[in-house]
Amino acid sequence: MDLRLSPEQASPDERDAVDSLLGPESPSSAERLGRHRLLPALWSVQSRVGWVSEGALNYICHRLDVAPADAYGVASFYRMLSLTPRPSTLAHISEDLTCRMKGSEDLCREVEKHLGPPAPAHQPGMAPWQKSACLGQCDRAPAILVTYSGSVPQDMILGEADLPQLLAAASGRSLSPPPSAAKRIPQLGEKGLRLLSWVGRIDPMSLADYRSQGGYRALARALQMRSERVIREVAESRLLGRGGAAFPTARKWEAVAKAPNLPHYLVCNADESEPGTFKDRVLLEEHPFNLIEAMSIAAFATGCERGYIYLRGEYPLAKQRLEHAIHQARAAGLLGERILAADWSFELEIRRGAGAYICGEETALFNSIEGFRGEPRSKPPFPVTAGLFGMPTVINNVETFANIPDIVLEGGAEFASRGTKDSTGTRLFCLSGSVQKPGLYEVPLGTTLGALLEMAGGVPENRSLRAVLLGGAAGGFVGPEDLRLPLSFEATRAAGATLGSGAVIVFDDSVDLHDVLLRIAAFFREVSCGQCVPCRVGTVRQEEALQRILKRGDAAASREGLLALSEIAQAMRDASICGLGQTAGSAVQSALTRFVLPAGGEK
Ligand code: SF4
Repeated sequence: MDLRLSPEQASPDERDAVDSLLGPESPSSAERLGRHRLLPALWSVQSRVGWVSEGALNYICHRLDVAPADAYGVASFYRMLSLTPRPSTLAHISEDLTCRMKGSEDLCREVEKHLGPPAPAHQPGMAPWQKSACLGQCDRAPAILVTYSGSVPQDMILGEADLPQLLAAASGRSLSPPPSAAKRIPQLGEKGLRLLSWVGRIDPMSLADYRSQGGYRALARALQMRSERVIREVAESRLLGRGGAAFPTARKWEAVAKAPNLPHYLVCNADESEPGTFKDRVLLEEHPFNLIEAMSIAAFATGCERGYIYLRGEYPLAKQRLEHAIHQARAAGLLGERILAADWSFELEIRRGAGAYICGEETALFNSIEGFRGEPRSKPPFPVTAGLFGMPTVINNVETFANIPDIVLEGGAEFASRGTKDSTGTRLFCLSGSVQKPGLYEVPLGTTLGALLEMAGGVPENRSLRAVLLGGAAGGFVGPEDLRLPLSFEATRAAGATLGSGAVIVFDDSVDLHDVLLRIAAFFREVSCGQCVPCRVGTVRQEEALQRILKRGDAAASREGLLALSEIAQAMRDASICGLGQTAGSAVQSALTRFVLPAGGEK
């Protein structure tokens, strides 16, 4: 243990919060627990007391044998953790793209009149509200996350929120739970759905219901096949990752299955934080047993005996349902030792993220689980050789896993018969913004953008389509002339766009695109982890250049600004460590050149 930086002691409540997670103290417990318990321990105190005091931090460091300065660096990394006093009830109001379009800025102004200015993150302040990045509730914007700390902590999402609701929540009054996501799926009950066919049909809280409707048949089948055969079926399906990078799933699985170093780890990336994206949340809330079954199949195929679900901190209902599902699966012998009487064990744990967009990057996520700041690592080495805890690791996104049971049951070739040659299967798209029926849609890959928008009812009456942001803030803009664009990996790549995380944010002619672009630039400045200079400085300079262009608006400013933005984006693309910096300029540049300054920089 290094120097103690402060003599502060934890309060009895804080000690109890830590001990209830880590167990009673014993002479060897620090060695046994390890620093990978750091983030859960910080969460335990945050949830109990509403913030993490110096005394609490000291006690956690003592229990885990972590240097206080080191732990401070971790605790201060996450937006949802506070190192200064906060009220026990706090409303986090999303100020991101879709919520802005649906009035969140007006809502914030009204709230400020009633409750005073917001509490800035990591600064002293007891106002019971603060602004937040996207909360993954874009189908019912504007959205608010309300966190209640105490001995029975509770978090709740308010969708399509208004001032009375918010004031009631901020005063600590209990609210009725939000309607089930299943009720808000526009395609509910339609024929031909794959991933969404389960939603609304199965009770997400009942393992018995899941099994009675065919759940766990795929795992039983996988156990009958050899693990090589399971991977072969996934290879034949040509399933590409649905998190944004579109990497072939089977290539990862094969590499880890063959890796000689043990143990192997399995990780589900459920840290869905891309603005405009909420597909994984719906799957997690409505179909948690499917994810557990799919991860069990992947673990069997790749020789993993331990898995983690890294879950976005802002998804309270998903956490509750996943915890319940894991508990039920364990009680039924579907997790743990000798699953379904096979000579194989698998354990699964949830790790709750704490409000860091960058933790959606796979190596940042590993660092976060291990108890370090969630900063990306340089690659190579890649996760399949040195991932979580330095061991071979399979990491896939929630939607990617969701396809696995079907692939095992129907065979990879059948799966590949849907979609296009290079983009097989169906895909979930998150429609939000200026559409009549926002929500989650499932369509075969290759469906055109126009057909998808039509399913969502198109733009509101008397409005015309101005732009569509594909792939969220890290994606790019397309326009009305792109309605015939097939939504496949290859077609969007050829068009200089991306499917990214499946976000499809629609803007009609009433939307202030300048405001949208300024928010995207501010977003990247806020979420850059700051580890590498091109991204740390570039995201600030990008925002400044954009402000100059939009403020002055003359041709000279546009020319100079565009040149500056293009050079900044190039530097970030070439020299940033991770995808965040590499894509931080894409959306802004695509919008400026296509819509805001259409004549090559002349306004
Ligand atoms: Fe961090 Fe940005 Fe560098 Fe990624 S590119 S490691 S987010 S500073």
